[in-house]
Amino acid sequence: MDDLFARARAVIPGGVNSPVRAYGSVGGDPRFIASAAGPHVTDTAGRQYVDLVMSWGPGLLGHAHPEVVEAVTAAARRGLSFGAPTETEVELAEAIRDRVRPAEKVRMVSTGTEATMTAVRLARGATGRDLIVKFAGCYHGHVDALLAEAGSGVATLSLPGSAGVTAASAAETVVVPYNDVEALEEVFAERGEQIAAVITEAAPANMGVVPPEPGFNATLRRLTADHGALLILDEVLTGFRVGPAGWWGLENEHDGDERERGTSGARGAGDNKHDSDGDGDGEGWVPDLVTFGKVVGGGMPLAAVGGRADLMDLLAPSGPVYQAGTLSGNPLATAAGLATLRLADAAVYARVDEVAGAVADASAEALTAAGVPHRVQRAGNLFSVMFGEAAAKDGVWDYTDAQAQETFRYPPFFHAMLEAGVALPPSVFEAWFLSAAHDEAAVEAILAALPAAARAAAE
Ligand code: PLP
Repeated sequence: MDDLFARARAVIPGGVNSPVRAYGSVGGDPRFIASAAGPHVTDTAGRQYVDLVMSWGPGLLGHAHPEVVEAVTAAARRGLSFGAPTETEVELAEAIRDRVRPAEKVRMVSTGTEATMTAVRLARGATGRDLIVKFAGCYHGHVDALLAEAGSGVATLSLPGSAGVTAASAAETVVVPYNDVEALEEVFAERGEQIAAVITEAAPANMGVVPPEPGFNATLRRLTADHGALLILDEVLTGFRVGPAGWWGLENEHDGDERERGTSGARGAGDNKHDSDGDGDGEGWVPDLVTFGKVVGGGMPLAAVGGRADLMDLLAPSGPVYQAGTLSGNPLATAAGLATLRLADAAVYARVDEVAGAVADASAEALTAAGVPHRVQRAGNLFSVMFGEAAAKDGVWDYTDAQAQETFRYPPFFHAMLEAGVALPPSVFEAWFLSAAHDEAAVEAILAALPAAARAAAE
C-alpha cells in the first residue's frame, strides 16, 4: 500500500485527487480502496472497514446498492454519453422538483462546485450586482469567489483561501461569521445595493457540524429579500441526505410524517417546527436557488442547481446567463441518481436517522467515560465531534469556535478507530456519514471500537 502511495505521489500532486484524502491532518498514509459494498470499504491490502465516509455523502443507501448498480449497468449498455437530451434526465429533474418545492426548474451539472458556480453567476446575472456574501467555515466547492475562509479541505489544511484566486475575485466576496445576524445586517446596511446573493450551507457540515440557530435561515431569507438580493441555499451535502427535501424540508415541511431536525445543543432549542422562521406566523421560507450534489448522483458525478422558474430560465439557451457541460446530465449518472432517489423512501431516512443517532450517542458516551471534553453536534442525521472544554461548555456556533477546539485529540481517535476496522473521515472538520446499509453488525463494530479510541483521544 505504501508503494502505491509513493507511485501516486510521483504522478498525482500529493498522491490524491482531492486534498482531504491524503490524511494530512491525521497523519499516516491513506488507505487505497479496492472495492466497497453496503456499509464496508475494502482496501488494496484486503482489509475491510466499516465506512463512515460514504464517499463524503453520496452513499445514502450504502455502497454499490444492487438496484443502483443495475440501473447504471443497464444505462451503460445503452451508451455511455450522448451529448443530447435523454428521458432519464427529465425524470430526474421531475423527481428533484417533486421532492424539493423551491426547485421549480433544475439544471444538471457534474459537480457541486459547478452547481454553486452556476448559482453565483445566475444571481449576478439576475440582479446585475457583483457582491456575494458567504459565511466563514462554509464550503461551497473550489469556486474562486467562494474559497475565502472555506471549510472542508481548506479548513483541514488551515488555509485562509487559495493561491491563484485574484484580488479582484476575492474583493467581490464578503465573508461573515456564521450564525451572526448582526454582522450580516451591518453588511447589508453598508453595501446592500451591491449584493447579488447570500450563499449558505443549509446546515453547515464542513467545519464540523454547526447547525443554524433556530430562525437563522429564515432571517437570511428576509434580509436578502428586503435588499433585492437572492438567497442561494447550498444543499450539496444535506440535500436528499437529511430527508427527502433536504434540510429545507426539515425546516419547512410539516406533514404527518414530520421528522426531527435534531439540532442537539442548539441555543434556545425547543425547535419550533411549525414556525420555522420564528416570527409567529406559522409560515416557512423559500430560497431563490438551491444547489444539490452527492446523493442526487447516487455515487456518480452529478449535481444540480434548481430554483424559481423565472430565475432558472435566465440560463442559456432560454436566457443570457451562459452555462454548459459536455457530460452534463450524463445517462449513467442520471440513472444512478434516479434509482437512488426512488429507493430513498421514509424507511431509508428512518434507518439512517436511527443509526446516526446510535453512533452519535455512543461516541458521546465513550468520550465522557474517558474524560475527554467534547460535544457531539448534530443537524438531522449529520453529526461530528467537537473536542475541548469550550466546545463542551458553549457549543460550536461558527468557524472561530470550530478552529478553537482541541483538534489534536482527533488523530489518535481516528487511528484507533481505523486500527479497529472503522474508517472515519480523515479530518475533524468533516461530518460522519451513515447509510441505510449500516446494519446491526456494522453499528456493533463501531460501538465496540469507540471506548479504546476515546481513551486514545484522552492522552
Ligand atoms: N457545497 C457543499 C456544501 C459541499 O459539501 C461540497 C463538497 O463537499 C460542495 C459544495 C462541492 O461539491 P463537489 O465536491 O462535488 O464539487
